[in-house]
Parts: sequence; structure tokens; C-alpha cells
Amino acid sequence: MTATPTIHTPSAPPTLLTPAPDLFARRADRLRQLAPAQALGPWLDWLAALCTAQHRAFEQEGSVPHNDIGATTAMGSAALLGRIAAIRWTLISALPTDRCAGVGPRWELAPSDLASHIERNLLLAQAATIGTGRDYEDVLTAAAMQVAWTADARRSQAVGTAADANAGTCPHCGSAALGSILLAGGGLAGLRYQECCLCGCRWNTVRARCTLCAAGSVVDYLSLEDAHPAVAAETCDQCHGYTKLFFQSKAIQVEPLADDVATLALDVLVGERGYARTAPNLFLCEGEAA
Ligand SMILES: [Zn+2]
Ligand SMILES: [Zn+2]
Repeated sequence: MTATPTIHTPSAPPTLLTPAPDLFARRADRLRQLAPAQALGPWLDWLAALCTAQHRAFEQEGSVPHNDIGATTAMGSAALLGRIAAIRWTLISALPTDRCAGVGPRWELAPSDLASHIERNLLLAQAATIGTGRDYEDVLTAAAMQVAWTADARRSQAVGTAADANAGTCPHCGSAALGSILLAGGGLAGLRYQECCLCGCRWNTVRARCTLCAAGSVVDYLSLEDAHPAVAAETCDQCHGYTKLFFQSKAIQVEPLADDVATLALDVLVGERGYARTAPNLFLCEGEAA
């Protein structure tokens, strides 16, 4: 009698990664790390303070039972409006009073104005437009929405399916990707995940393929080289779009939202070559990316 050979099949990588509980704290750390070398340093420092406030609000969200899970996709609901208003207030209360010149919170915001800011952010999150006319209040409202959407993603423990791999939009909330991260550890080394600009979920995507049009082997890479070796723009000659790749192997602390804001010079470089950006970053204001 011969032994039945054991065929070892490596387990498939997870198709969907829910956001880590310290997502916002890590973003704050990375923004503080990047700020000193940046012309936009004061803005990055302020965003770091905003992310720290998000972390605090996120911890509060986690301790509050919500009966309206899923309300984050039901735009216009009173529950969603009240929830975002409450988180916005927590963020404002936690922010330092000294900040970039010319920006500051409006302590009171009419519900109709808040609903308008939410709607604008949802449009941007779906890559409907890239930040034209965005202002400070849009960023603050986006920060509150990220807390709510991320809390819901964590609470639902979203589990991916094979069909979610290579999806064009977030399998959890349907928003567009901010960019892609190539992981370096945790048994996932070398794997590429797109990251949702709103809820922070990541979904597995094959490498060396345009995520905007799935055209295949026509992508090329541009970077700022020594200035930001962990970030590259993946350009596509089929759709003439680009998205950013963030390499953990070159900087283990790399964080897509933070490193995107810190590499706007790369957007300029790629734009001069004729490629257009559609990937949304809810922390960008008008004129910071085109
Ligand atoms: Zn999402
Ligand atoms: Zn393409």
C-alpha cells in the first residue's frame, strides 16, 4: 500500500482586507513624518492633527452600538446626517485652535449645508470629479465620513469573495480606489491591494495592469526617484490615466492617503506627460491635484 501523496496548495490570498483599528493613528504618524520635508508641511501637520482627531472619534464610534449599519450607503437619511454631524463635532473639538492660515472650522453648520458637503464627497469618492471647488469644510466632512464608513467596514467584518478580486470599485462601499499598496509582510509580501478612498478597505488586484481600464500590459511607471522612492505612478497608454502605487518594501510606514498628499509633485510630473488623474483623495483641496 502506498501512501497517498499530499498535494500542498498554498492558500489563496484574502481578496478583501478590512481596515486596521489603528488606520487613522498610522496616517497621523506618517503625515508627521513626511511634513518636515514638504513645501506643504503646515498643511500635512494640520492633516496629521485631523487624523489624530479621527482616531479618537473612531474609538468612540466603536463603543457606540449603531442600528443603522448600512445607513452610510443610504444618502439623505436623517440617521446618517445626525451621525456625520456628531462625528464632525468630535473632530472639531479635538483639533488644535492654531492651524493653517485661512482655514478654520465653522462651528455651526446648517443640516442642509452638511448634506451638501456629504453629497459632494460621495461624488468625489466615486471619482465623479477631482476636487474642483473643494474647501476646508469638504475635507472636514470627508474626515467625519471616513470615520463612519471605516467603523461600519470594521463592524461588518466585510469578507471578500473571489469575484471581488480586481474589482474596479470597493467591494464593501462601492467607492473608488485612492491607489494601490504593494505589501511587504504578514504573509502577503508582493501582493497588490487597491485601497478605498472612503472606508479604507483593501482588495486584491493583479500587478502590472491598469486598474482604470483593465487594459493589460500597457502600463508604465514614473516616480520622483530619490525624493519619494516608495511611490510610483502607474500610467496607462490605453486610457491615458494613472494611479499611484505605494511600495511597503521601500518604506514600511508608507500610507496611501498620507504619501499621496506628500507626492503632489509626482502628479505634476505625470500630468505634464499627458496622463490624467481620476483617483480621488478626499483630503485634497482645489488646485492640489489636477
Ligand atoms: Zn470602501
Ligand atoms: Zn488604462
